[in-house]
Amino acid sequence: MKKAYLLLTVLSFVLLTSCSNIQGEVPSSGSATEQEAPVENEDITLPEETVSNNDNKNNEDEVIIDPVSQIDLSLNPNELGEIMILMYHGIGDTESDWQRTPENFRKDLEYMYQNKYQMISLNDYAKGEIKTKAGYTPIILTFDDGRQNNFNYIEENGQLVIDPDCAVGILEEFKNKYSDFDVTASFFLGTNPFGQKEYVNDKMNFLVDNGYDIGNHTYSHEKLEMLGSDDIQAEIGSVNNIINSYVPDYNIETLALPHGSNPKDEYLDYMLEGSYEGREYKNIAVLDVGWRPAYSPFDTMNNFKSLYRVTASEIKVDNCGMYDYFKQFEAGSREKFISDGNSNVVTIPKKHEEYLNKEITGEKIINVY
Ligand SMILES: [Zn+2]
Repeated sequence: MKKAYLLLTVLSFVLLTSCSNIQGEVPSSGSATEQEAPVENEDITLPEETVSNNDNKNNEDEVIIDPVSQIDLSLNPNELGEIMILMYHGIGDTESDWQRTPENFRKDLEYMYQNKYQMISLNDYAKGEIKTKAGYTPIILTFDDGRQNNFNYIEENGQLVIDPDCAVGILEEFKNKYSDFDVTASFFLGTNPFGQKEYVNDKMNFLVDNGYDIGNHTYSHEKLEMLGSDDIQAEIGSVNNIINSYVPDYNIETLALPHGSNPKDEYLDYMLEGSYEGREYKNIAVLDVGWRPAYSPFDTMNNFKSLYRVTASEIKVDNCGMYDYFKQFEAGSREKFISDGNSNVVTIPKKHEEYLNKEITGEKIINVY
């Protein structure tokens, strides 16, 4: 690999210094192999930008990377495996179905780090843009209801600081503890996000500036099945408008259904698109309440309008808490998503090929093995 990088660097230098008209056409990243498209495997197609430009005579020495040749199959990549979308609510002193203690939340994060899980954003999942490194499994953390113990400011020595035992405080702690841990989470908010009205602006901007996502959990947390089209649009649109009053450029595009309640069939589209007070909203992913890992975004079985979540708890008696699924993944009785390390390549075992949703993979290179 290092030799190949070196080769590319040297070739790039020669090209740049000898041909003044090829600026911007030198491959920008990765290692190099000879100029050959990978033609042996019928499943592989190259997007236009990686195909060599044979019309340009000056590019004779240009080297093309075959991203598929870079995939390490010994890591057993499986990008049709399942991904857990964890459903947290509160972080507080007592453990319950809807609350995790700070100690247990730290235990969860430590488990993820030690067992090669990497947090990704729900938005990236919904777009099929999974940038998890090779051999690692993406995992998504969601927090519903915008409780103050998700993001709490406290005063310490006259200074305002993030409560070290609130969700954001603990996530930031792990970000600092492990520099190679991708720390993020999605917070689903309604009115009065995180309490402490005087700090809402600071909190919203902190989340957006530090790589967290904000989603919609509706204005009054009512079951959407009880509502008509105008009320559904008001429930969703008003929350977006509130959040955007603090972070105007942030695009809210995910919705967690209160009580997991879908609108009636005839109003289902308003869950995804609508408008309120002259502003439109559009959701690309809608979260249910439970009770199993989600499919890969590339799986034909997946439904972005009704994504499964796993309760982030250990006290469920019906074997559907997060550690039950961790155990099943480790035992191999369920297949987890294992990344190939390249978000432009979708690597899948041959036996799952029939489940590949090519509408979602789009221009990505498909690598079946
Ligand atoms: Zn809720």
